[in-house]
Amino acid sequence: MRRLLALLVFATFSPLLCAEEPVTIGVLSHRGDEATVAHWSKTAEYLGEQLPGFHFTIVPLDFDEVDPAVGSGSVDFILVNPAIYVNLEVRHRVSRIATMKNSWKGRPYNLFGGVLFARAERYDLNQLTDLRGATMMAVDETSLGGFMMALRELKIVGINAYRELGKISFGGTHDNVVMAVREGRVDVGTVRTDILERMQDEGRIKLSEFRIINAHEHTTIGEHENFPLVHSTTLYPEWPFSKVRHTPNSLATSVSVALARMPQDHPAAVAGNYAGWTIPLDYQPVHDLLRELQLPPYQHQERFTLIDVVVRYWGWIFGGVVLLLFMVVMTSWVLRLNRALKAAKTQLELQHALILDSVADGIYGVDTEGNATFVNQAMESLTGWRADELIGRNQHLLLHHTHADGSHFPSGECPVYHTFRDNQARYVDDDVFWHKDGHSIPVEYSSTPIRNARGEATGAVVVFRNISERRRAAEESRQHQNEMAHVARLSTMGEMASGIAHELNQPLSAISNYTRGCIRMLQSAEGITQVGQMVAAMEQVAGQAERAGEIIRQLRRFVRKEAPESDWVDIEELLRSLLKFVQPELRKARVKLDLKLESSLPTLWAHGIQLEQVLLNLIRNAIDAMQDNEGERLLRVHACQEGSAVVIEVSDNGHGISREVQDKLFTPFVTTKKQGMGLGLSISKGIIESHGGEMGLHSKSGVGTTFTITIPLRREGMTHE
Ligand code: ADP
Repeated sequence: MRRLLALLVFATFSPLLCAEEPVTIGVLSHRGDEATVAHWSKTAEYLGEQLPGFHFTIVPLDFDEVDPAVGSGSVDFILVNPAIYVNLEVRHRVSRIATMKNSWKGRPYNLFGGVLFARAERYDLNQLTDLRGATMMAVDETSLGGFMMALRELKIVGINAYRELGKISFGGTHDNVVMAVREGRVDVGTVRTDILERMQDEGRIKLSEFRIINAHEHTTIGEHENFPLVHSTTLYPEWPFSKVRHTPNSLATSVSVALARMPQDHPAAVAGNYAGWTIPLDYQPVHDLLRELQLPPYQHQERFTLIDVVVRYWGWIFGGVVLLLFMVVMTSWVLRLNRALKAAKTQLELQHALILDSVADGIYGVDTEGNATFVNQAMESLTGWRADELIGRNQHLLLHHTHADGSHFPSGECPVYHTFRDNQARYVDDDVFWHKDGHSIPVEYSSTPIRNARGEATGAVVVFRNISERRRAAEESRQHQNEMAHVARLSTMGEMASGIAHELNQPLSAISNYTRGCIRMLQSAEGITQVGQMVAAMEQVAGQAERAGEIIRQLRRFVRKEAPESDWVDIEELLRSLLKFVQPELRKARVKLDLKLESSLPTLWAHGIQLEQVLLNLIRNAIDAMQDNEGERLLRVHACQEGSAVVIEVSDNGHGISREVQDKLFTPFVTTKKQGMGLGLSISKGIIESHGGEMGLHSKSGVGTTFTITIPLRREGMTHE
C-alpha cells in the first residue's frame, strides 16, 4: 500500500519532472499513511520549488519500517519523533539538519514536554511522590511526550512507575487519556504539552477541571520568554528533519536552508500543522532520557548493581558458592589428611628408627654413589663414627678401604658396590671394617639391594656384625677339642701300653740276642773269620733298633699335647703306619686284617695325627667288638676316592650295635664298655666335621659294624693348595 502511494505521488508529478533527480523523505506514519502524505506532501512540494532539479517524494513508514528503510538507504531524508531519531543516530549515523517549530497562539516554539494531571478536586495529588498507589493512564508505551517523559520524572524522584503506581493503562490517543481522567476512570493521566490547551480551545474541556501535578511554572525557552504551555516534565526538542548517511552534504545543506527559510504561515507549514523550521537542536536530553529509562538504543546499559548481578547470574553464583564450599571442605579434608599423614609418617619414622636402633647389628644404607643414606645406633657404636659424620659420605672410603692383610681394597671390588650394580643380594662371612680409631673389626655382613617400584636398584642396605667374639669362641672350642683329643689319645696309649711294651720287647730281645751272638763270635777263636755273619747280625740289631725307634716315635707323636698344624697327608702312608702300630693288638686279639687301598689315593689337607686318632679309635672299637667272636675276626679297612672326597671304611664282624645305642653313639660319655670313657666317637666325629667331612655308621646286631668317613679334598677356608 505504502509503495503504491509513493508511486502514486511520484506518478502525479512525474510528467513535469522527467529530468529531475528524485529525493525521498521517509516520514513516521503514526496517524495512517494517507494522513501522513496529506500532511507532508506540501512540504515536499515546497522543497521541490526551492531546489530546482530535485523532485521530493514523501514515503510514509510504519514504526517497524523506519529502521530497515534507513539502514538500506532507501530514503534520503527521514522525519521521525526525537526518540526514534536518537535510535537512528546511534544505529545508522543519521544527522539532523533542522528541528520542527510548533506554535501556540502565533508564538513558535521548538520544545515540548509531558503533562501529568488529575481531576482538580484531587487535592491529595500535587507532587510526583503523591502518585504512589495511584492509577495512571498514558498514551502509549512508546510515546515520548505521552509516557516516557513522565516515566523519567517519576524515576528521578525514586518511583518505579511499573511497581509503585496502582496500575498503568494506555489510552492509545491523547484525547482518550484526557477524557479518562476527566471521567474519573483513572487517578492520573499523562499527555504531551499543548493537548490540554488545544482541547480547551476546541471547547471540549476546561483546563480548570484539572490539576497539574509537579507543574513547572516558569520554564525559560528564550532570553525573555517562558514556555507558554502547562507541563510537568523537562522540555525536549521537537521532531528533527534528518539526512540519511548516504545523502550528499550539498543536498542536505540546500534542504536545511530551504526549511529554515520557510515562513511560519506557509501553506506547507499550515498543512503539516507546524510553524516552520529552525536550526537543529541538541538531542542530548532525549539520549539521557532513553539511557535513564534503559530504552533502545540503551536497553542494555542499565547500571549493574550487586542485586542485578545476583538476579542475573544466580545460577552461576550458586554453582560458584557450592564449588567454593566444596573446595573449602575438600581443602580442609586434604589438610587434615595431610596432617594425619605427616603424623603417621613421623610415627613410622620413629618406629623405623626405633627398630633400627634396637638391633644389635650395624645397619646402614648407601645410594648408588656408595654414600651412606642412613645408619643405626649400633653402626655408630661399632665403627666409632657418628651418624652425621657418616651420612652423605662414602662408606667404602671410611670403613672398607683396606683388606685385613693391609692391602688396598679398591671400591670397584667392594661387594656392596656389586650389590647395587648387579641388583643381587650377597653375604660375606669374613671381612674387616675399619674403626674410626684405626683398628680393624672382623665382620660378617649381608648386602641387599634397595629397589624402586620398577625393581631397579637405587642403593643397598648393609647389615653387619662384629664376629671377634664368635671367632674367639670358635678358637676356644677348637683348643678344647684338641685338649679332649689329647686326653683321649693319652687314654688310648694307656690302654695300649702293655701291647706297646710287648711290641718293644721283641726288637729289644732280638737286639739283645743278636748282640750276644756277636759277642760270642768275637770271643771265639774263629771270630775274625766270621765277619760276614757278624755284619749280618749287626744289621739285624740296627733294623730292630729302628723298629723300636719307630714305635717310640709313633708313641711320642701320639702323646704330644699340641696337635701339629694341617699339612698335606698321604692317606695310604698314614693307614699303613697306623696299622703297623696296631699290629701287636691285632695279633694278640687274633684279628685278621683285610686292607684295601685304592692305588694313587690323593693327598688330603688335614691334621694327620687327628685323622690317625680317629682311625685308631675305630680300629680299636672294632677289635673290642670282635673279642667274643668264636669264629673268624675280620677287620676290613678300605680307602678309595669318590668324586671330590676320600672315603675310608672301617668294618668288623663283631657283635654290632643295638638301635638304641646307635641313636646316641656320638654323644659324649656313651659307652657299653666297663673301662670305656665313651668319648672316642664324639671326639672322632668332631675331628671329621672340622675337616668338612662326615662320619656315617651302618651296623647290624650279630653281623657287624661299618663306620664310613668321608673327607672332602677341598673345603671352605682352605688356604693352601
Ligand atoms: P668307648 O670305646 O670308650 O666306649 P667310644 O665312643 O669309642 O667309647 O664308643 C662308644 C660305644 O660304641 C662303645 O662303648 C661301644 O658300645 C660302641 N661301639 C663303638 N664301635 C663299635 C663297633 N665297631 N662295634 C660295636 N660297638 C661299637
